[in-house]
Amino acid sequence: MRLNCVIIRAMKTRFAPSPTGYIHIGNVRSAIYPYLLAKQQGGKFILRIEDTDRARFVDDATELIEDVLKWLGLDWDEGPIVGGPDGPYFQSERKPIYLEWAKKLLASGRAYADDTDAETIDKYRNVCYNEKRPFLYRDFRPENPPEWQEGIPIRFKADPKARKWHDEVMGDLEAGPETQDDIILIKADGLPTYNFAHIIDDYLMGVSYVIRGVEYLPSIPNYLAIYEALGFEVPGLVSLPHILAPSGNKKLGKRDGAKSVTEYRDDGILPEAMLNYLANLGWNDGTEEEIYTKDDLIQKFSLAKVQKSGARYDETKLLWMNGQWIRRLIDNEGVEKFYPRTLNFWPASAANYSDEDRKKVLAIIYDRLKTLGDLREMTDYFFQDPEINLETLFKNKALKKLSEEDLSTLLQTSFQKLNALADWNEQNLQDTLNELLVETNTKPAALFSAIRIAVSFAPFSPALPLTLNVLGKNTSLARIQNTITAIEND
Ligand code: GLU
Repeated sequence: MRLNCVIIRAMKTRFAPSPTGYIHIGNVRSAIYPYLLAKQQGGKFILRIEDTDRARFVDDATELIEDVLKWLGLDWDEGPIVGGPDGPYFQSERKPIYLEWAKKLLASGRAYADDTDAETIDKYRNVCYNEKRPFLYRDFRPENPPEWQEGIPIRFKADPKARKWHDEVMGDLEAGPETQDDIILIKADGLPTYNFAHIIDDYLMGVSYVIRGVEYLPSIPNYLAIYEALGFEVPGLVSLPHILAPSGNKKLGKRDGAKSVTEYRDDGILPEAMLNYLANLGWNDGTEEEIYTKDDLIQKFSLAKVQKSGARYDETKLLWMNGQWIRRLIDNEGVEKFYPRTLNFWPASAANYSDEDRKKVLAIIYDRLKTLGDLREMTDYFFQDPEINLETLFKNKALKKLSEEDLSTLLQTSFQKLNALADWNEQNLQDTLNELLVETNTKPAALFSAIRIAVSFAPFSPALPLTLNVLGKNTSLARIQNTITAIEND
């Protein structure tokens, strides 16, 4: 069994993002699996910032990555902030290390300095294009490369041959010599390419499993050649399938409606739900279970059950899962403990109300929320009088058959009965509404819709006795009265 290797190696995994300022959900999944595996095996999870591509560098992008990982609860054992024995953990600070290893390859004849200019390389490319053959730089390898000096790129000297390897997700793979070329190790600016830097870093940092997106799969034969030339043991190789757009067979991109992780956070997706959803995107433990805590995931995750084909991104499912998580957390921990998480999500009208008032609203509405951001749209009428829109009332399915007069009478009767209620509480409200049903000989849907709309003018509200109870007697009655007046003036 392949999985035995997982247990034999000291488990060290890494997440190695490039700080581009945007954290796509696919990027984050490449952090979750390594994290879970490291924690499951009592190993270490490293965060390494791959910032050697200065053209793509964005200020604060590293902080963004750190914030997202912390938000998701993916704490790293080595890396920025926490440090560790094999730092620095920013590639831009490791320039001399890469150069030293590239020089070893120069010395052993497995690399060469190459000052061929871009124009000449283009010419080579054109030759191949015209001859209808793939462009391989090694076919144009210079016969007398110059002595290396600063400013000259260093290229690997490929040893093209058939290569076989095992990918923990994709299985046993092989590739022919045409997949291997003289790739650049060190660029003219002295910084390494990703292709070279990650090999050196993974080796020096003791990474036992390299888990990354499947887009790197075609480059693996080149990496195998470099491991070989350097005499490094090849780490466990793991290619994660793409996350696919909701429709079609293409990779999920910004245009497919997927937001960055921080946008989801700001819309009120909970980290528990995000972690759960992304972990499940392309992995399941073979059961029907869908809700997993971080601890469940640590226990149950296995690379053997990561699917090979792309997993389709489904925002509706994410929202459903988030709703499940809101309910689960409030049911388990109570409103009191959960409430601080909602602070950024209330409508402006709630500003003048106390935490206690808002908690009361949360307690009756949470089972309808899909995101915390829904609080903004769904709770405004608890904090300010809604705008009266009689169409909402007249066009309601349950009320369509009633004339304006009938409606007005129904609301007046309700007003009087509710007004007579001395002790305004949930149970009494429930009883009073039941009595009203009998007395007015109205269907529940009609009576409750009429009162609900009169006090909220919202498409949904929590159960009526709960809503009336939280609104309070004065507000509820005043709103019913205003609605009656509006109908009469209509
Ligand atoms: N820096 C690469 C990226 O952000 C990481 C690939 C890897 O995990 O090795 O795509």
